[in-house]
Amino acid sequence: MIECANCETAQFLQITKSRVYFERGELINEITERYECTLCGGVGIYTYDDDGGEETVRGDVDVTKERPKFA
Ligand SMILES: [Zn+2]
Repeated sequence: MIECANCETAQFLQITKSRVYFERGELINEITERYECTLCGGVGIYTYDDDGGEETVRGDVDVTKERPKFA
């Protein structure tokens, strides 16, 4: 999951822009999401590349391997 690198929590993150790229009209090749933290004002970009499943982040966000817990 994505969390704020400054606050170390995902609690205040909001997706402000989301974009999905298609290849050959059908396959989802790349997903880009822009995050804003409403607590510290940080902004970060998360990109998922379906070729090899590579995740990259820029700015004030981190990718953690933790999965959201079910209540
Ligand atoms: Zn923050």
